[in-house]
Amino acid sequence: MKKISVIVLLASLLIGCKTENIGLDEVREAISLEETKTILFTLASDDMKGRDSKNGGYAKAAGFVEDYFQKHNIQPFYPAYRDSLMTDSLWSYNVVGSIGKYDPNKKTVLIGAHLDHIGIKEQEGDSIYNGANDNATGSTAVLQIARFLSQKKWKQNVVVALFADEEKGLKGAYHLAERMKKEQVDLAYMVNFEMLGITLTTGANQVYMTGYNLSDMADKMNAFSPNFVQFLPQAKEYNLFRRSDNYAFYEAFGVPAQTLSTFDFKNYGHYHKAGDEAEKMEVDNMNTVIGTAAYTIAKLLDKEVNIEMKEKEE
Ligand SMILES: [Zn+2]
Repeated sequence: MKKISVIVLLASLLIGCKTENIGLDEVREAISLEETKTILFTLASDDMKGRDSKNGGYAKAAGFVEDYFQKHNIQPFYPAYRDSLMTDSLWSYNVVGSIGKYDPNKKTVLIGAHLDHIGIKEQEGDSIYNGANDNATGSTAVLQIARFLSQKKWKQNVVVALFADEEKGLKGAYHLAERMKKEQVDLAYMVNFEMLGITLTTGANQVYMTGYNLSDMADKMNAFSPNFVQFLPQAKEYNLFRRSDNYAFYEAFGVPAQTLSTFDFKNYGHYHKAGDEAEKMEVDNMNTVIGTAAYTIAKLLDKEVNIEMKEKEE
């Protein structure tokens, strides 16, 4: 009996050593407001020409992401991080990184956001569509979360992706989803970020999830971060679940693949307008949201939480 209890004790100690014991304070410290501002203002600057592939702006933004990944020890998932595709006779590419070395025998968690926006339009006055909220904010979240996650070891593969050509019909995401499916990546779930720059009407440090009832992802996230993930009736009404990159992964893999956002149709009047600028973003709340998301995802990864489908999509 004594021997057994010693073995049990040793075993539990060993298991104890494996968990990362991530604390919210640690995450808050790592996800700094300065860094959030730097990434956001870079991606949404006039220099990036609205991040469209036609005018070279997208390539510039993608180059910034590649440098960021390299600097923070995020490995290339594909050579030079690039998953190339052609949309309307123009080459573009998703930027895809891996936290640590990818192991094909392990399950994979994907974290993504679209990096592209709609470019420059010929018109009087401001002609550059900077796409600060849509989606420099979501891209900032993915870069910050990737940098935080890259400092630790996880039991599952973690792949991070910045998508091209979302604004042309989720083209980049469809390309990557089909490629990963063909390459037999064992996708567990996907978390996508869209428009996080303005405080959600229900309150600070909150997001809503598209396809809320399709899986238990919201419940599992809220178990670590109470009230963080909300249900938004408009998300169901406008079928937002199908309107961002998450949908391509749901279609290809049939696993939970959902978007977190704070744009609720009441809180921001510059959606798809030239006035969608970095100066208008509520960066304090945005940074808090990114920190909470990083903490929540780190907890899901640390405990290898299983996220399951609940309903079939209507
Ligand atoms: Zn968007």
